[in-house]
Amino acid sequence: MAVCTGCSLLCEDIELVFKAGAISQVKNLCRKGQGHFQALFTQRSKPMIDGQEVTLDQAIGKAAEILKNSKSPLLYGWSNSTLEAQIVGLELAKKLGATIDNTSSFCHGILMERILTGKIPTSTLDDVRNYADTSVFWGADPSNSHPRHLSRFSYYPRGEKRQKSYEEERTCIVVDVRKSATARLCSNYYFRLQPGGDAEFMEALLTVLDGKIPKTGDKKRILELGSILKKTEYGVIFPGRGFVNSLQDKMNLFEKLLAKLNEITVFKVIPMVEHYNTRGFNQLLLDKTGFINRVTFRSGIAAQEKSLVATAKSCDAALVIGSDPLSDLPFGVAHALAKIPLIAIAPHRSLITDAAKVVIPAALSGLEVGGTALRMDGVKIKFEPVIKSEHSSDEQILTKIMGAI
Ligand code: SF4
Repeated sequence: MAVCTGCSLLCEDIELVFKAGAISQVKNLCRKGQGHFQALFTQRSKPMIDGQEVTLDQAIGKAAEILKNSKSPLLYGWSNSTLEAQIVGLELAKKLGATIDNTSSFCHGILMERILTGKIPTSTLDDVRNYADTSVFWGADPSNSHPRHLSRFSYYPRGEKRQKSYEEERTCIVVDVRKSATARLCSNYYFRLQPGGDAEFMEALLTVLDGKIPKTGDKKRILELGSILKKTEYGVIFPGRGFVNSLQDKMNLFEKLLAKLNEITVFKVIPMVEHYNTRGFNQLLLDKTGFINRVTFRSGIAAQEKSLVATAKSCDAALVIGSDPLSDLPFGVAHALAKIPLIAIAPHRSLITDAAKVVIPAALSGLEVGGTALRMDGVKIKFEPVIKSEHSSDEQILTKIMGAI
C-alpha cells in the first residue's frame, strides 16, 4: 500500500503496479494523484551550472559556494518536502543566518497561524468522517484541489455517527464566487459571493445568527444558510485559497463568526492547504522558532520578517526547493528572484530550473523517498518510497550542502 503525496490529503490506500518503467495498474488513485505518480517519468532535471550539465558533486559544491558568499540568502519552498528534509533546511537557515519560508506566506499562513496557536478550533478529518453533518467549502473546490476529500471524509463516507451519510445525514455547502465543480455537486447549497465579498457575506451571516435580518446581500439565501448552520450538530468549515485571499486582514471577523457558531453548536475549521506538507513546515517552524513563516536568522536569533515580498526583493541569493516561485508568486517577487543567483533543488524541469544558476536534481519526495509529513488536519503520516531511485533525497542534498559550507 502506498501513500499519495499529490495533495495534502496524503491518501494512504493507494495500490500500484509498475511494469516496464510505467504504471500499469492503480487502485484508489484520483486523476490528480495519477498525474502526480506519472511525473516520475517526465522531464527529470539534471545537475547544471549556468545551463551546462555537470556532476552532482560539482552542482552541490557551487550551491554551497553561492550560499556561503551570500550576505542575505533566502531558502524558499519546503511544502513538497518531507519533515526530515525541512528539519535539515531549518538547520541550514540557522547556519547561514538566512530567511526561510514556504508558500503559505502567500495563501493559508494567516489562517494557519490561528489554527496552530489555538485561536480557531480545529479537528481531524477522521472526526469529520465520523461525526460531521455539515461541511462548508468556502472559496474551495475540493473536486479539483483535493479530489478524494468528499468521498473519504466529508460527504459520501458512512462514519461512526453518520451511517446514513449524504443521502440523509450530511449536508455539503459551497460558498464561492463561481459555481465550481463542487458547487454543482451540491447545487441546492451553493451560495454565490461577489468577488472580494467574503467579509460582507460573513457580517450578514453574523447578523442572521444574532436573530436579525441582514441589511446586505441575498437576504433570503443568507437566512436559509443561517438556519442550516444553527441546526448543525457537528460542522466543519474548509477555507480555500479564495477565502484567505479575500479576507486577509479581516480574519478577526472569521474568529467572531466561529465564536458565534460555537455558542450555538459545534463548528471546527480545517484549512484546505494544497501541497502535501505545507502544514508540516508551519508546525515545525512554530515548534522551533515561535513563528509559522517568514523566519529570519539574520541577527543570530529567530525573528519574523514583515513581508516575503520585501525579503525576496532584498535577498542576494536564493535556494528554492520543491517549488516554482517564478510561476506561482506575484510578478514583483518573481522578477526580483530572477535577477539573483538561484539554486533550484527540483525533481523536474520548470521555469525555476531554467532560470537557476545551479540545478540540483532531487528524488520525488514522497514517491522515490520515504519520510513523514503532516496531513492538512495535522495528523502525521509516515510513508515509504514506492519506487527505487538513483536520485538523492532533499534531506541528503541539504546535508551535503551544509557539510560543504
Ligand atoms: S486526493 Fe490527493 S492524496 Fe488522495 S489520491 Fe488524490 S491527489 Fe493523491
